[in-house]
Amino acid sequence: MIEIKDIHKSFGNHHVLKGIDLTVEKGSVVTIIGPSGSGKTTFLRCLNLLEQPDSGAICMNNQQIDCEKPSKKDILALRKQTAMVFQQYNLFSHKTVLQNITEGLIVARKIKKNIAESIAHEQLKRVGLSDKADFYPVQLSGGQAQRVGIARALALNPDVILFDEPTAALDPELVGEVLQVMLEIAKTGVTMIVVTHEMEFAKRVSDHIIFMDEGRIVEQGPPLLLFNSAKEDRTKKFLHRVS
Ligand code: ADP
Repeated sequence: MIEIKDIHKSFGNHHVLKGIDLTVEKGSVVTIIGPSGSGKTTFLRCLNLLEQPDSGAICMNNQQIDCEKPSKKDILALRKQTAMVFQQYNLFSHKTVLQNITEGLIVARKIKKNIAESIAHEQLKRVGLSDKADFYPVQLSGGQAQRVGIARALALNPDVILFDEPTAALDPELVGEVLQVMLEIAKTGVTMIVVTHEMEFAKRVSDHIIFMDEGRIVEQGPPLLLFNSAKEDRTKKFLHRVS
């Protein structure tokens, strides 16, 4: 469903992504692990062109986008097919939980308010926050705020949800509730690409794990293979350090 070919990205002289290729099957969960600074977040942001790669191609649902010169139409089409869950939730503080979810539906997707609201309620139920629709973000715990972020992504009904370290900003006791919601969503066949430091979660939920280091995919495979019989020294050292 998604084919990514030879993505390169530099910031000034810093060559951050050095040729990333990846295929993601529909309905699969792909997690990206690796040391800080290896380019995981940059790669994820390249996938919906929040960062524009210097070169490479992204093919989603048979539509190929040349990253060097994407047209506005390409960018819009790609954004329509993807939704992002951010580390810092990125909720509008002056809008209620419900409004945070309906905003994108009404403004970008041109969906009528009453229908947008019913979609939002449905997704809030899915993340266990039906009772928080009229709350403001400041009244939520970090875990609840992130679950709203996830409901907002789900409401857009994208082909793929991109999760950028969704639990990294949370107090440890709040991490579990967010991972649990993500696990439940994974079971429903939503395609997910997740950058995470949560190794147990990666082991449990992934169909495929990517280990990145210094801007390259060093090794990839199903969780059991990667965690139990990694081939590359860099992967082994990283897994030893974090587990
Ligand atoms: P990771 O997610 O693996 O920790 P990142 O993708 O966040 O890695 O960052 C990879 C490298 O790119 C880091 O050295 C970081 O400082 C650099 N980088 C990321 N975003 C920018 C940016 N907008 N401008 C300049 N450098 C950046």
